[in-house]
Amino acid sequence: MAGATQGEIAVVGAGPAGLAAAIGLAATGRATVLVTGPERAADHRTTALLGSSIPILERFGVWERLAPHTAPLRDMRIVDGTRRLIRAPEVTFKASEIGLEAFGYNIENDPLRRELAAAAEDTPGLTVVRASLTGLSVDDDRARLALDSGDTVEARLVVAADGRQSRVREACGIDMKKRDYPQVAVTATVRHTRPHWDISTEFHTETGPFTLVPLPGDRSSIVCVVDDKEAVRLLGLSPEALAREFERRAASILGAFEVETGRAAFPLVAETARALTAPRVALMAEAAHVMPPIGAQGLNLGLRDAAALVDLAGEHELEVGGAEMLKRYAANRDRDIHGRMAAVDVLNRSLLSDLVPVQGARGFGLYLLDRVGPLRRTVMRLGLGNRAA
Ligand SMILES: Cc1cc2nc3c(=O)[nH]c(=O)nc-3n(C[C@H](O)[C@H](O)[C@H](O)COP(=O)(O)OP(=O)(O)OC[C@H]3O[C@@H](n4cnc5c(N)ncnc54)[C@H](O)[C@@H]3O)c2cc1C
Repeated sequence: MAGATQGEIAVVGAGPAGLAAAIGLAATGRATVLVTGPERAADHRTTALLGSSIPILERFGVWERLAPHTAPLRDMRIVDGTRRLIRAPEVTFKASEIGLEAFGYNIENDPLRRELAAAAEDTPGLTVVRASLTGLSVDDDRARLALDSGDTVEARLVVAADGRQSRVREACGIDMKKRDYPQVAVTATVRHTRPHWDISTEFHTETGPFTLVPLPGDRSSIVCVVDDKEAVRLLGLSPEALAREFERRAASILGAFEVETGRAAFPLVAETARALTAPRVALMAEAAHVMPPIGAQGLNLGLRDAAALVDLAGEHELEVGGAEMLKRYAANRDRDIHGRMAAVDVLNRSLLSDLVPVQGARGFGLYLLDRVGPLRRTVMRLGLGNRAA
């Protein structure tokens, strides 16, 4: 027989963002229901959790579970790997320069999701419902979620964390503003014969960045941004040939590579929802914004959405899911989301541009960052999601 679950808040989607939000929201004392969606296939990507995300995960009580699976990012090095007329100097950003032990911590997506899912099961006041949303209706004081199990969930606030193809967003009639880039990110994990010393290295190339991000042990994750044709070629290589190709692109700085199973490709897009809220609904993470994987901003931005919702849910005099709460959520998140989108777009376009003045401006910008300490430190804080910077 079909059942109805009641909660104050329903979070739809058990990706990393939805799991973290559900855990944080339940901890405010609001009865929370998490609608997980379908079982997920293995995800061999990794996520660099930058500065602003660690206090959020600590506050949600999950950082201790995640930390053993992470590798610190103590230095970030940018190398101009282009063959252009004007090339930028190599720049290294050191976390110690802004008084931090690390800029952030890199974690494989599977342990990230597994640990968050285990934490969700242990969270008091959080009901986990293993089903997918099929429909949504809203009236003045609540929303009703129809599930593929035949069950329903009722809540006063629906948090859409159901990813790029969000059913909640679609049900609310909110469109995405979309920009395609002529690039694809090819991802893989490699073992290497030399240590990475907790340094992430980004080679800027004519088609986009080639990035090596440290993992625990002598392993690193690779995000290699190339054009469509090159992506197809890379995906078709044998593991040995791909390892040699990546090693060449990395100028052998980490020695010889061995590629692990699980390479994948992600066409680069930038998408933002035309509205962050609808009556009784708040969109968050990739349901609200999809970023190109440049500068490791996507999930970090999603975790800041979660923190904003948790702050508002913690104000118990505020009607949860009411117009005032939703208005404040949208106002709080708008600038951060659009600012990050614009910054990543400018960075990506400056790499792709063949215009000499643009190359010159990028080179001069990196020269200034190399030479001018206060500017470099401000940019480091901004990259970490520190709005005060
Ligand atoms: C190559 C690459 C590298 C990246 N690297 C970084 C990085 O270093 N740092 C960083 O911060 N970000 C990074 N990102 C971005 C990051 O991966 C995403 O922001 C993040 O995975 C999005 O999480 P999410 O929870 O919003 O969405 P998802 O992980 O897509 O989760 C959505 C969930 O909703 C569920 N769902 C879907 N439909 C329904 C339904 N009808 N009912 C219920 N549930 C449903 C799905 O099953 C899924 O579990 C990277 C992205 C790419 C492509």
